[in-house]
Amino acid sequence: MEEKTIQIAGSITVDELSRALGLSVTELIGTLFKNGIVATINQRLDYETASIIIDELGLKNVKLEKKNTSTKTSDYHRELSDKAVERPPVVAVMGHVDHGKTTLLDTLLHKKTVDDEAGGITQHISAYQLKHDDRTITFLDTPGHEAFAAIRQHGAMLTDIVIIMVAADDGVKPQTIEAINFAKSANAKIIVAINKIDREGADINRTMADLSQHGLQPEEWGGDITMIPISAKQGTNLDRLVDMILLTADIEELKADIDVPAEGLVIESHMETGKGSVVNLLVTSGELKTGEFIVAGSTYGKVRTMLDWQSKPRGKATPSVPVTVTGFKDLPNFGDRFIEVRDEKTARKMALLNAQAAANASANANVTSADLLRMMNTADNSKVFNVIIKGDVLGSVTSVVDSLKLIDTHGEITLNIVSTGVGDINENDVYMAAGDNTVIYGFNVSVPINISKMATRDNVPIRTYKVIYELLDDAKHEMENLLDAEIIEEDKGEMKVLGVFRTEKTSIIAGGEMLKGDVKPTYLARIIRNQKYLGEAEVTSVQKEKIDVKELTAGETGGLAMKTTSKIDLQIGDRLKFFTRETKKRTL
Ligand code: GDP
Repeated sequence: MEEKTIQIAGSITVDELSRALGLSVTELIGTLFKNGIVATINQRLDYETASIIIDELGLKNVKLEKKNTSTKTSDYHRELSDKAVERPPVVAVMGHVDHGKTTLLDTLLHKKTVDDEAGGITQHISAYQLKHDDRTITFLDTPGHEAFAAIRQHGAMLTDIVIIMVAADDGVKPQTIEAINFAKSANAKIIVAINKIDREGADINRTMADLSQHGLQPEEWGGDITMIPISAKQGTNLDRLVDMILLTADIEELKADIDVPAEGLVIESHMETGKGSVVNLLVTSGELKTGEFIVAGSTYGKVRTMLDWQSKPRGKATPSVPVTVTGFKDLPNFGDRFIEVRDEKTARKMALLNAQAAANASANANVTSADLLRMMNTADNSKVFNVIIKGDVLGSVTSVVDSLKLIDTHGEITLNIVSTGVGDINENDVYMAAGDNTVIYGFNVSVPINISKMATRDNVPIRTYKVIYELLDDAKHEMENLLDAEIIEEDKGEMKVLGVFRTEKTSIIAGGEMLKGDVKPTYLARIIRNQKYLGEAEVTSVQKEKIDVKELTAGETGGLAMKTTSKIDLQIGDRLKFFTRETKKRTL
């Protein structure tokens, strides 16, 4: 058979793939359908999905090849001209919860936020700037819990340097590993800060050994990762850390063009009474000035006011500078890219085009192999967990949604996000949730008293949280309740039947000799004749010499009363194999 090679750059449409395979579109759509994907002709399939489908079709002569389209991970840093100028590094501090990320930023920036945060957990991605020896460093503040995985996908590509915080008295933890993996996948430079060295129990060497187990070799040991022991709380060695950040930035020669239309990323957005949309932006190239028109996703606006991270007004923002602006007509999404355009007309048109493109994209949503596997696994008997998510700002809604999606249910439960929104929980939410086993989660929002009453009346659970991981724990718990319980059976003993005294419709009285193990009332028994299974019985009492006893053990003879669900004609010589059965709630 002739070999055929199909090259896939990122993804391929159903139409293209069917033509490349020489199949009819209907046949391909049919195969997709059998695998749980309702596809249209324009739907895009990723490489992995295409290979699974080709496997399903049994096409052994077709080879798929991944075509590399881009080498650089960052979409946000455009090609540089020779007029590009130096820009501050964008640094993300990441690591396990409680290892000191917030404290580090606080000490560096002399601000006080640790105590304000609900449960001490950073909730929103925000940005700060530090001035040091006439140079500037931009810090992105990222949360340190499960939501981190979700948020990082949005803020990821901005980061030049990742500081991995590890507490010297706690060592490498799951989120430390996640941070390491993230930094590597984002192609960011890594600096390790070994924190809390002032603490009793701090062990710098053990922490370094831990880290080297996870692919980070300290310079001291001949590796290439700078590891700086610090105390974020007492300020020890923070100068060294900052110098190292600046040195790394120098080596990386971080630059951006100024002489181009401003562009960057939306890192936070919310509505404020009297101000309308309040949006945090991080400029990646060009200079953003007040009065300019910008487009982000399907919304646009004229920059009305611009504040720096300390809420001081500023007239323009250069690359790597985070600012808060007002003037957007609507809330742009967290992670949206923004660009400056010539005038309002262009802005409106582009926003409209973006909206149409987004609508098309969701109609022809790309199918990834993860979706496919999930659909295959949940195609039959899947259980659905319905949720409505409300949050104070778009960023938190996105984090909650993304983090919920990351809860691994081993394909047994499908998460159905009925709706999401910014603002307090309202009548419409309760209305949508009613009668459908839907949980409404509110993050940093409140529930007006009449809505709470309405929800109680309609039996709609509303849960509000201020800490994301508590919300996630609750959701996980709800999903666990949907899982089928695990059945655990344990073999206990065996009896050979020597006499059958009575068999009735649902009861048996018999006697015999214990060959092994023991038997007690409440044990279950499998009735076996010539290795064939006849049925199951429940032991209700055990007797020895006609007296009720607690048990019979190997070698003893005695009698049993048993309950059955249907009549079983027990005979001499049958075996009773005793066991216990427990059901155990499963966890995710
Ligand atoms: P995050 O969850 O990573 O942001 O951690 P936090 O900055 O909130 O710190 C968690 C706890 O560790 C707080 O009680 C801090 O005061 C404490 N902490 C942070 N850094 C240090 C340090 O260098 N030394 C000591 N002793 N405690 C620290």
